[in-house]
Amino acid sequence: MTTDQEMNDNRVLRDFYARDPEEQQLFLTDTWCDHCQQVGLGMREPEEYELFGLLFIEGKCCQCGETVLTELTEDDFDDE
Ligand SMILES: [Zn+2]
Repeated sequence: MTTDQEMNDNRVLRDFYARDPEEQQLFLTDTWCDHCQQVGLGMREPEEYELFGLLFIEGKCCQCGETVLTELTEDDFDDE
């Protein structure tokens, strides 16, 4: 049985601010907002966590304040 509560319980919080400042900046600006339907609006109050082996950075859209979710793929760690 899977509930939303269990989903949340499976989150493993990570320290977003432990990242390289340039990387932080990139994640904070390179966003997609479902609500605004626009890229690059930026997010605030970022929170990084791991869930089911995937990394996510969740924050609030700078424009509308709705939740913005970025899923990190391996590619994000590779190049440059
Ligand atoms: Zn928005």
